Parts: sequence; C-alpha cells; structure tokens
Amino acid sequence: MKNPTTDLVTAYIGLGSNLENPVEQIKSARTAIAQIAGVQELAFSSLYHSSPMGPQDQPDYVNAVMCIATNLPPIDLLHCLQRIENEQGRVRKGERWGARTLDLDMLIYGDQIIELPDLIVPHTGLAERAFVLYPLYEIAPQLQVPGKGDIADLLAKCPMNELRRLD
Ligand code: AMP
Repeated sequence: MKNPTTDLVTAYIGLGSNLENPVEQIKSARTAIAQIAGVQELAFSSLYHSSPMGPQDQPDYVNAVMCIATNLPPIDLLHCLQRIENEQGRVRKGERWGARTLDLDMLIYGDQIIELPDLIVPHTGLAERAFVLYPLYEIAPQLQVPGKGDIADLLAKCPMNELRRLD
C-alpha cells in the first residue's frame, strides 16, 4: 500500500483573473486549492498586476503563483483546478486569451515533463511570460524548470514590461 506522505510532489500553480473583483477571485481560489484533499499549501507569491495578452479590449489581470505539496496525480490535480475555475463562474467562450473570472494553470509538477492531449507541463509559455516568471521566482528563486533550466536565467531574458507587484 502507498504511503501518501512519502509520495508528495512539489507543484506550482499559476492564478490569474481579470473579471469580477480579481483580487478576491485570486484569494478565493487560493483557499479552494488549499482545501483540495491531498493538497497542502507551501508558499504563495505577492499579487501582481499585468496587461492582458491577446485582445486588448479587456481589463488588466491580477496574477499570482502558489506552491503546493500534493499526492494527487497530475490529471487529478488538473481536474480539481478546472472544478474550481468552474465554481468561480468561469465561462469558456472559446476566445483565446479572453477575459476570465479565474484561470488556473498547472505550471510545474515535480520534475516531470508531461505531454498529454489535455495537459502540457511545464505549462506552455511559462518561460516567456513575465506574469508567471516573476511571481514564481519570488517564491522559488533556486527552481530548475524541467526541460527549460534555471529560473534565474529565464527571468533574466524576460523583461518585466508593465508587470507590477501589488502591495
Ligand atoms: P485555458 O483556456 O488557458 O484555461 O486552457 C485550458 C485548456 O488547457 C484545458 O483544455 C486544459 O486541458 C489545457 N491545458 C494543457 N496544459 C495545461 C496546464 N498545464 N494547466 C492547465 N491547463 C492545461
């Protein structure tokens, strides 16, 4: 029989919102993630303010990154994150990079590289997105991103642009 305490994996989740009080959306999502059975919060970054990717006719985003320990397999964790997105009123309109009450991305899952139809880990775009890299670096400055290298090196190549840290 498996001992869950010895099977813990460290994972990082990216949180983003630009609708219906984004700061509260992020805080509610943090609480909901920490309440998933088999998940324990290890760290949570500051909140950051970022300009939208893609369509510009939408509000700015609030972003953060959470570090967890989990014994859930990656697909199960993804489904839990999607349930929380749905519970917080996420409506998928099919528009890429469109406005959303809550976006939860599995950024990193241990040292694994996952390429499934529904799950790419490390998350696509992680290495180029300031709103992911800066909060990630804040809570894990020594991190090695599987297949992509040292977080400090990735950060050095990624300008902060309009990203700003909220107090
Ligand atoms: P989005 O609209 O940006 O939230 O993308 C959601 C879609 O991305 C879902 O269909 C997921 O199955 C897929 N996906 C692939 N890799 C990931 C990941 N690492 N984290 C979250 N969603 C992912």
